[in-house]
Parts: sequence; C-alpha cells; structure tokens
Amino acid sequence: MSIAQNIEEIHKKIDISKVKLVAVTKNHGVSAMLEALAAGVTAVGENRVQEMLAKHPAIQAAGRSAEWHLIGHLQTNKVRQAVPLADLIHSVDSERLAREIDSTAGKLGKRQDVLLQVNIADEDSKFGVEAGQALPLARLISQLEHVRLCGLMTIAPFSETPEAIRPVFKETYQLYSELKLLKLANTEFNWLSMGMTNDYQVAIEEGANLVRIGTAIFGSRQY
Ligand SMILES: *Cc1c(COP(=O)(O)O)cnc(C)c1O
Repeated sequence: MSIAQNIEEIHKKIDISKVKLVAVTKNHGVSAMLEALAAGVTAVGENRVQEMLAKHPAIQAAGRSAEWHLIGHLQTNKVRQAVPLADLIHSVDSERLAREIDSTAGKLGKRQDVLLQVNIADEDSKFGVEAGQALPLARLISQLEHVRLCGLMTIAPFSETPEAIRPVFKETYQLYSELKLLKLANTEFNWLSMGMTNDYQVAIEEGANLVRIGTAIFGSRQY
C-alpha cells in the first residue's frame, strides 16, 4: 500500500480530532515525508537531531511546513542545534537537559515546549525518569522561564501482544492525570505521548492523545 493509503487506514482507526498523529520519519527520505504531508500528516517525528537538521531545509524548500517533534534521546551537546527547529521535544529526562534547553531557548527568545519522558516499565536499556522522579523533575521544569512542560511521553517495552503492555499505559496515564491535576505554574499539561505501530490502539484506549507511528505509515526501516 502507498503511504497515503497507510495514513488513511490509520485515520480510520483514530479520531484525529482527539488524537494527534506524529509520523515518525527517521530513516526515511524527504520524498516519503512529502508524501505523508500531502496525505494530511501535520507533524513529523525524528529521533536524531542530525537527521532533523538535514531534512528541515529540504521540506521548507519544497514549500511544505510541518510540526517537528524530537522523539529520541537528546544529548545536552545537541541542544543548541535542536532547539531552533523543534516544536516539541518529547524526551526530557534530566535536570541538566532541562536547564540546557532553558538557557538555549532563552538566548533565542523562544519558549521551548517539552514533554517529560518517563520509564514506567523501568527497563535498564531505555531513557526516561522512573515514576517516582517525575514529580520533582516536573516541579523543577515548571520554574524554568524558557521551557514549557506540556505533558508526558513513554516508550513501552516491545511486545508481540500489545495487550501485555496495557498496564504500562494505564500506569503512565495515571501519573499523567496526577501531574495534570497539580496545575503547576507555567505548565500546559495537555499531551500524553504514547503508542507506536504495534501498540497505538491500546495506548489510545488507555488515554494517549499523541501517537508516534513510523512503520505502519512508511513500512519497515532500512538501517
Ligand atoms: C522509531 C520510534 C517510533 C516509531 O516506531 P514504529 O514502531 O516504527 O511505529 C516511536 N517513538 C520513538 C521514540 C521511536 O524512536
């Protein structure tokens, strides 16, 4: 199926008035991205700053615009390159990173929207703060002048059966709801980013309103 048909299939399964679709374009070229944008996608997700830097001007040159979401782990030494381009950074998981984003955004006269990445399943191999660290870090971010905390992001462990990870999504939603209720100063806690190709329907059932989908749109990635 074509990229446009794949997107149409996904649009049948999600209510795009309630759930934002981020098309994950990592490892796919500019022409695939342009196809997705022409088919109604409004937001693209990259996991590497380098790739975002390379594609951003090409998309602009083609006369298209998109929201740029940085979804992968962000090293502090890449912040200076990421902040000018990113509309939403999904992967803030340390005080050091948050402060670096704040100072870079301040110099640009920008307020950077970010999500706090949480690691509910507590897998050693993944980034993100554990549930117990989410509140202290959220409080800290809420005090930064040039960063706006907009919600949470999580990457569930891979499973052949998405049902098996429903509890991870449930728990993340609960944490999201608790933090949202606190109404921390300077935050707009409105986005819960969870769900990928294999599990997005379960994630939405459990409260996700931002899903990051690559393979189901573009096919499998060549590395
Ligand atoms: C690659 C990636 C995705 C998309 O994964 P698919 O299984 O291809 O849909 C989503 N989120 C993050 C953080 C990713 O790195």
